[in-house]
Amino acid sequence: MSQKGSNMTTTTKDLTGAGKQVHARSANNWSDPAFPKSGWVIEDVADLKLETDSGIGVCDHYKNCEMCGHEHIRYAAALFHPEKGLELLAGRRCTGRLTGIPDDVESLFRAMRLRGQRYDRFKKKAWQSLPEGIELSLRDATISVRPRRGMWDVICTPKAKDKAERLGGADTLEEAKKVAFDLYEVMKGRW
Ligand SMILES: [Zn+2]
Repeated sequence: MSQKGSNMTTTTKDLTGAGKQVHARSANNWSDPAFPKSGWVIEDVADLKLETDSGIGVCDHYKNCEMCGHEHIRYAAALFHPEKGLELLAGRRCTGRLTGIPDDVESLFRAMRLRGQRYDRFKKKAWQSLPEGIELSLRDATISVRPRRGMWDVICTPKAKDKAERLGGADTLEEAKKVAFDLYEVMKGRW
């Protein structure tokens, strides 16, 4: 996922909590006077449903905002507090307040939500079974997924001649479909 916004660092992609200390969940950190309410930066943002579907990580589709306890958030930011060394998974509103850049956060989450909606529509499209793999025919591209040496090649071929073919690979068929979506998004110049 590409990074947008003003105070982001390089992606660490890890919203699953693996390898890093995630702040212990409490019902509402806003009411805890000792909990820092500013000085947070965004490390990464994620559509948790999309991350799960890609087979990356082990998180559930939806999580709870670790700041306010809001349940079942699909779009989340991994926040980091450099001074305190804390990490936190937060929803849109809490991310806006904790980072002090609510407008940037709004547009970032809006872009993520629109992409999520495109992904949901993409997921519903019917793939065709072919002897050499599966294929998805879209208005402006054809996407092929073919097995190769226990893995999957993903080829996104635009129908417009002036656009380049995009290639990807995946370990599983499910992940390959997610890669197909990513390639298609890149081809369309989105995200
Ligand atoms: Zn929250």
